[in-house]
Amino acid sequence: MDIREYLYNATNGFKRIPQTVIIDGGTDESRRKAADVLAMVLVCKEKIGCGECNLCRKALSHSHTEITYVECEKDKKTITVAAARSIRSNAFVNPVEGDTRVFIIPQAEKLGDEAQNALLKILEEPPVFDRFILCTENASALLNTIRSRSVRLTLPVPFEADMTDKNGENAQKIAMALLNGDEAQFVFLLPKLEKDRNTAVLAVQKLKLIFRDALVLKFSGRAVTGTDSSVEMSDSFSAARLTECIRICEQAEKMLDSNVKIGLSLTVMFSELIGSKSL
Ligand SMILES: [Zn+2]
Repeated sequence: MDIREYLYNATNGFKRIPQTVIIDGGTDESRRKAADVLAMVLVCKEKIGCGECNLCRKALSHSHTEITYVECEKDKKTITVAAARSIRSNAFVNPVEGDTRVFIIPQAEKLGDEAQNALLKILEEPPVFDRFILCTENASALLNTIRSRSVRLTLPVPFEADMTDKNGENAQKIAMALLNGDEAQFVFLLPKLEKDRNTAVLAVQKLKLIFRDALVLKFSGRAVTGTDSSVEMSDSFSAARLTECIRICEQAEKMLDSNVKIGLSLTVMFSELIGSKSL
């Protein structure tokens, strides 16, 4: 099942797309893709996301004037209150192109409480033409008041996780080092991962997918990423260990997101992963 099909089923054939949607689960990549698909459906002339009409085409190329992406600025840790307020002021202007305006916040966990409260003011009584799509790994990162005004769509499994790219390869190498219980193999990899924070974060995210995949494989026999390491782990790791490994990856992601040194974050992660073998 691809993302479009999942969304089609979840919204009664695109007929019931709530005014505020939280997309969680999956990966950053799949959540962004899901938001793009929903936005295209919403602005489409036929309201089906035909992909052919000029509005769909603009949505696809991210050039539709009524689809606004609210991202965290590169040099900032959080989305500013000013950005949240600008959503509010823009939300009341009638759309120029088509009849629907869509605001997408791809990393809604980067909204601080104050920014969420500013956003809440518009979510409470939005004009009929506005739609809001908030993406985040886990909806619990958002205030209750935001969640209660939204419908949550949880992507069930990581869709189309590409494990053949550079980050996927790095993740697989860490997984192999772990399977072999070989710290030297990991240390050998470290200089490559330490080069920049983003490389490290993406490797950890994909490593987490390998663990998730192994866990899914254990119970359903259906692999998502289908890497050799996830197959091997589903045989040799207990479910408790795999769950703990996922937690350790999430902790490493948090460390990498703060100012902890990259090498230190990864080394702590690896030694904890090795240490989880008693589970
Ligand atoms: Zn269309």
